[in-house]
Amino acid sequence: MMMLLLLLGSLAMSIAAPIEECNLDTVAIVGGTYKVSEDGEKVEYSCPKGKYPFPSATRECEGDGKWTNEKEKAICKAIECPKPVMFEGGEHDPRKPKYFVGDELYFECWGGFKMFGSKNRTCQENGKWSGETTICDDQEGHCPSPGIPIGASKVGTSYRIEGKVSYNCQNGLRMFGSKTRECKENKKWSGSEPSCRHSYTYDSPEEVAKVFGSSLAETIESSDPDRVEDTSDRKLQVKTGGLMNIFIIIDASKSVGEKNFTTAKEIAEIFIEKVSSFDFTPRYSVLTYASQIKKIVTLSESDINTQADKVAEAIKKFKYSEHDDKQGTNTRGALQEVYNQLSLDNLRNEKFLDHSNIIILMTDGNHNMGGDPSVEVNKIREFLDIRKDHREDKLDIYVFGLGNQISQDELNDIASKKDREKHVFQMESVDALKKAFDEIIDETSAFQMCGLSRDHSEKQTTHDNEKYPWIAKLTITRPGGVENCKGSIVTQNFILTAAHCFHLDDQPHFVTVELGPSDSAKVTRKVQNIHRHPDYNPSGKKDKNIPKSFEYDLALVELSQKIDFSSTVRPICLPCTSGASWALQQRDKAVSCKDHENFLLSGDLVKALFITEESRNTLEQMNVQIKQGNWRQGCLKDAEKVEDFKDVVDIKDVVTDNFLCTGGVDPEVDPQTCKGDSGGPLIIQYKKRYIQVGVISWGTVNSCKGYKRNQVPAGSRDFHAGIIPGMEWIKKIITQELIYLN
Ligand code: MG
Repeated sequence: MMMLLLLLGSLAMSIAAPIEECNLDTVAIVGGTYKVSEDGEKVEYSCPKGKYPFPSATRECEGDGKWTNEKEKAICKAIECPKPVMFEGGEHDPRKPKYFVGDELYFECWGGFKMFGSKNRTCQENGKWSGETTICDDQEGHCPSPGIPIGASKVGTSYRIEGKVSYNCQNGLRMFGSKTRECKENKKWSGSEPSCRHSYTYDSPEEVAKVFGSSLAETIESSDPDRVEDTSDRKLQVKTGGLMNIFIIIDASKSVGEKNFTTAKEIAEIFIEKVSSFDFTPRYSVLTYASQIKKIVTLSESDINTQADKVAEAIKKFKYSEHDDKQGTNTRGALQEVYNQLSLDNLRNEKFLDHSNIIILMTDGNHNMGGDPSVEVNKIREFLDIRKDHREDKLDIYVFGLGNQISQDELNDIASKKDREKHVFQMESVDALKKAFDEIIDETSAFQMCGLSRDHSEKQTTHDNEKYPWIAKLTITRPGGVENCKGSIVTQNFILTAAHCFHLDDQPHFVTVELGPSDSAKVTRKVQNIHRHPDYNPSGKKDKNIPKSFEYDLALVELSQKIDFSSTVRPICLPCTSGASWALQQRDKAVSCKDHENFLLSGDLVKALFITEESRNTLEQMNVQIKQGNWRQGCLKDAEKVEDFKDVVDIKDVVTDNFLCTGGVDPEVDPQTCKGDSGGPLIIQYKKRYIQVGVISWGTVNSCKGYKRNQVPAGSRDFHAGIIPGMEWIKKIITQELIYLN
């Protein structure tokens, strides 16, 4: 027995002994730099912009003391874009043996052919052509011409039903998307457009955000059972949610490494947070895998899996070290777990087949156990009763490349392939992937959600209006002069503002509304009608010695042409509407207007904000506190000091309960509103959503000079017309576009 142990001991020694260190003298790269991993076993190259490391981005020390491809000297080569191999129905120019970053291609169609896609394309730093595949189509086929991506050749020219085309990439390029496509009865091609890429080509964060974002938006919207098919009129949708499963799978194997794994976890958290601000509630299942599969949240944990914060928390808590054997990459095993959870759900859930399913897989590919993962994908498809052209919308598999040595073919095999969509993404780095997820929500402007603004935590936005996309600027040009006011976009047809912005005899054509950024992208609208609150009556309280009353200082401006929403032009939420219920995550059907009021306006001091124009065209957020309870007494006292109200017996006749009060220097100094701020929204932020609770009406002191804001004087208070007291009137004016609570 003793003998045997000794033997085993020496055997282990003899296996470990011959590992030799690799010589760092041979790894240097011409024109670039390199980094050596801590254990000295891996070298990572980087090159300046427009170049890539050749023959590979990394080298590993191979046991025998040699680096991978050691004989080939590393060099930074110029990035090339694929060369057009074949083009139908037109010409392209210039024809060159190679195309480098910055080179352009121009396309023209022959007579009788119509152009689709991009007319001009530029070779980009990531080795891809800008824009979309240029197609010259004679429009004779049942399906439109599927085109030939640059770098590919096509076989097959029949575009009738069941006609097939297949593609090949030029030597040295790898194919993403579908090799073969078939013309379907619905005039669409099966699969997704192929692309041919060099090994060094990656997707930019902007591309991923846009493409994944819009694909996700499409999936979410089509999962809505009350979806109105006519997309031009989606305003009255009620999103019931709860009909989607989202599986998040993260590869934790050694090849991915702890750093990338940790970033992938952060990406998952960002994703969940973004999705939670959409108007629907998916169920999450989260798992990670190496040799073994670890379940973080499953489909059967109904107490957690619909709660975004809890799911994100569980992901955060999971440690890389919980995978004890990281040698294996069991991608199929992970997909099998998805299959198992789906089958369990099928037994419990009679609406099982109504659910849409999204699988988000982050991996470097390179599976080395469990077998071919795409076999499991087919099993899942079968189980969900998905066949060609049948229920395809019930499953989307997105695969994101994780790490710098990615098996592109494997990623492509697993990912879904759908017409005009893309499901596989490869980034330059994991940080670039994270950046892409950060930007996703901004691109999904298809959502007509209220109170959403571009998340500007990481990146300076181009336009203030992406931060405050609901701000409207009103210009009233009357014979006597020009006046400016602010307002807020509440629907595609209505702007909410202050009634005092208008004279009684103002005509709608005096008013111009400006929306969105202040540059050429700005949107302007004419006005069809000005609706003032019927109880707004400035001279109505003269008997109480109030020279001008601002009670119910609310007006709705009806536009002569509706607005198309975008990332710079979106509506704010109004309390007591279903939109605000979603924003406040109060999705119970029984939630009432009173519940919104209690939620938004409880406590003596309520954090709020308004938006002002600090200098011309620069919007800035001002943080204030709404004074309630005992704090409100100070507001009333300061109102009493106003010269105009010196003969008023009861100041509560001026400052009725319908006003919200901000300003003053206690407990903190609140910035004050200035004249041009009138009509703008007083807003409460909840998570990433914004709900308007007041309209800026009047103040006790005016110390502003133009755009310059002076130090806030003591006794400076601002009063805002409350939205909730005005709700009954708003209901009567906006009858179509908002859904109101009781
Ligand atoms: Mg691996």
